Parts: sequence; C-alpha cells; structure tokens
Amino acid sequence: MFIDSHCHLDFPEFQSRLPEVLSNMEKANVQNALCVSVDLPDFPKVLKLAEDHAHLYASVGVHPDYEDTPEPTVEFLVEMAKHPKVIAIGETGLDYYRMGDRSYESMEWQRERFRTHIRAAIASRRPLIIHTRSASADTLRILKEEGASQVGGVMHCFTESLEVAKAAIEMGFFISFSGIVTFKSAKDLQETCRQVPLDKLLIETDSPYLAPVPHRGKTNEPAWVAQVGEFVAGLKGVNNYFRLFFTQVALAFALIGTAYGQAPSQIADFTKAAKFDDLSEVKDLVKAGVNVNTVDPYGDPMLVLAVKEKSLKVFDYLLSSPQINVNKANSYGETPLMMASINGDLELVKTLVESKQADLNKAGWNPLLYACSKGRLDVARFLVQHGADVNSTSPNGSTPLMMAAMSGNEYLVKYLLEQGADLKIRNSLGFSAIDMAKQYDHPWIEDGLISRWQKLYKEPYIVRSQL
Ligand SMILES: [Zn+2]
Ligand SMILES: [Zn+2]
Repeated sequence: MFIDSHCHLDFPEFQSRLPEVLSNMEKANVQNALCVSVDLPDFPKVLKLAEDHAHLYASVGVHPDYEDTPEPTVEFLVEMAKHPKVIAIGETGLDYYRMGDRSYESMEWQRERFRTHIRAAIASRRPLIIHTRSASADTLRILKEEGASQVGGVMHCFTESLEVAKAAIEMGFFISFSGIVTFKSAKDLQETCRQVPLDKLLIETDSPYLAPVPHRGKTNEPAWVAQVGEFVAGLKGVNNYFRLFFTQVALAFALIGTAYGQAPSQIADFTKAAKFDDLSEVKDLVKAGVNVNTVDPYGDPMLVLAVKEKSLKVFDYLLSSPQINVNKANSYGETPLMMASINGDLELVKTLVESKQADLNKAGWNPLLYACSKGRLDVARFLVQHGADVNSTSPNGSTPLMMAAMSGNEYLVKYLLEQGADLKIRNSLGFSAIDMAKQYDHPWIEDGLISRWQKLYKEPYIVRSQL
C-alpha cells in the first residue's frame, strides 16, 4: 500500500480524467493522496476533492511561486484548517529560483508569507508542507525562528543536500522524495535518500509534474507514487517481505484522526495515555467526548497502540467500550489481533478472539502470518484451532509456513505441516518455504523440509538461493 503525500489533482490536467486517475490509484494500491493547495482562489476545488472522496485529503496554503494572488492571513488559514479533511498547511516556503535579477530584499514578501503559514500551522496544530528551491538556508532559518518544530511537517519534493535533510529532520520534518529520485541524473539525491531514515521518509508524485521513470515526461498521477516507492525501497534495500513495514505514511495519516472531529491536542493526550497505560486519563478523555477509535499521529488506532505498548489496563477498558472497533487497522493494515499475534501475547489474542470475535482471516496480511513471522507457536496453534487458514497468503504470496521457515522455529514449521500447510506454494517471487529457510539461514529446517518434499513428491528439490 502506498500514499501519495503530495499531488495537485485540482489542476486542469486532471479535469476531464479524474475518474480514471482515481481508479488507477486503486489498481496501483495507492490508498490515499494529499491534494495540496497552491493559492486561495483554487482552494475550494482542492477542498471539494477531499470532501467528495473519502481517500483524498486537502491542505490549505499559498505557494511561494504565486505572486499576484490574494495574500493569506493567519486567521484565514486557521479557519480553513478547522475542516476535518484539511490535514496540513501549505504548500509554503521559499523559492529563489525564479528571483531572476531581482534583489534579495525584493523577495521579502515571500518570507513574510512563509512566516504567516508557519504561525497558522502552530495555531491550528497542523503540519507544514514546505517547498524550498535555491533557498534552503533561509528556509531552515525561518522555520527555526518561528518555532516550526512544534508542528513539524514535510520537506516536499526534496532535492537538497543530506545536511539540509538532517537539519529538517531535527526540527520534526519528514523528507519526501518525488519522481526526481528515479531519474538517472539524480545520483546525489539517491545517495541522500539512502541516508534518510525510513521512518523519516515519505514519497510523493507532485503530479501532474515530475513523472517517475518509466513514465518520465508524461502527465504524472498519484498511481505512479508506487514507482517512486519501489525505487526508494530498492535504494534502501527494503526487500519485498518487509514492504509492509515500509514507512511512508506517517504524515498523511498524522491527522486523519482529526476526521473524528477531535482536537489534535486531545489526540496527543490520548496517544500518550494509551502508551503509558494511564487509565484515568483515557477515561477522562472518553468522558470529554474523544472517540475510542481515535488514530494516533502515526496511524495507529488506540487499541493497536495499547496492544503494541502492552498497556493492559487501557486495553481492557477500550475493549469494554461498546463503540470499540476491534478490527480497526493502522496505516499498514495491522489490526490489534495482528499486533498481539506478532508479539506473542497469547492472553490478548485469546481475549480478542474469544470475547470480541476479532477477525482471524482478514484479506492481506493476517494474524497467523504475523504470529508465524516471529515463530509464535502458542499463538499460531490457538489461531489455527479457532479457524485461521493455514494456507492463507499475504499480498506477496507468503504463507504461514514460509513465515515460520523464516522465523527459524522448527516446532512451528512441524505444527503447520501437521495442520495441512502446503509445501508446494510459492510466493510472488517464486520462492517456497524451503527457499525461505535457506535464505534466512536455518539449515536444519531447510534439510527437514527437503526430505519431506522428497518423500511427498518423489523428486529432488532445487533450492532457489537469491531473493
Ligand atoms: Zn512544491
Ligand atoms: Zn506541489
């Protein structure tokens, strides 16, 4: 799954083909897109897109390249940002590339406008979308002077140096790479991208511009953020099995929680309380009207968070709420039951399944695959006994047996085989459980599975060694 953290779907390039563009997104597994505002006259169009389509979001702001256009005020931006689907302020920033032969002083209007946006972001507790070109020193300086680290945001369409990236990350910003990173000529940027930590990295299209390879030169669209994602995954050596952990979603989801109508400060408090198992604070927040299904700034619903952090009091309390959605997943599609399964928390798994009938066989990654990936035999046994499909497959075709072979737990491998796990299944890259055992260096499992293969199928097994 991907999210396009920056696009301009309101631009005329898309006017006649929006349905096609949206269906392309769906086909490419691009779940959400943030439609970024560039000036106030067109903001209503951006907002309408977000209002009409559940998976589109909007920002509000005036681009530094737009000169003869109404100037925004802090109050106006704050007012617009109250809309539940306006999740960010921008794009804003500095662009001295188009300064031409004008003086530095004559660009003061850009710096003033930039400060207005930062102040509005702080007042509305929304992240900033920063555009910077030929102006990184001033951009960083003004962000610092205005205290932008209180809200953070994203350095969009990043083309600056690693030093600039580091300074921005320090102020709480994500670094977003566009199709530019896929260009042959972008060697320096690719090196920078390798150095940016995965959990600080976002991807975007900036469509209709900057189509990634192999679409270079065409009208870009959000579906193609997948190509940017694949390329970045390759650069960073993130292999397909861990694509689900590919972190590029935090910003876009940072404020989706606000779709519940909660103030970001309440979300922050709830997040902290769920993390530290502060039951009385959670109770107070719920009493004050905060939804138990609230999502934290990284896309985790509170129940997922409670499971992750082993906050047992909060977990029990949330589960007892009639409004709780036990199957609500985070931005990676991970449900509370999946998190409890991967952590090997059998008690939580039992509670979720027995008293809340949590979904055992959801599409995509599922609890059994998660349990097996960490070799959790007890949990896997419980899940299978309660109806989990022992030959279910992940989006890339991985089976519980493959995950178990990867984990190195031979008892789990044996158990799954007893339960009818099919040794012949291959994932989308053509690998079987035997290949996984080899790849993850568990020779005793590899040997055991090969001899089982020979007995079952009366033929030698040829191991594929390269993932
Ligand atoms: Zn821009
Ligand atoms: Zn843009």
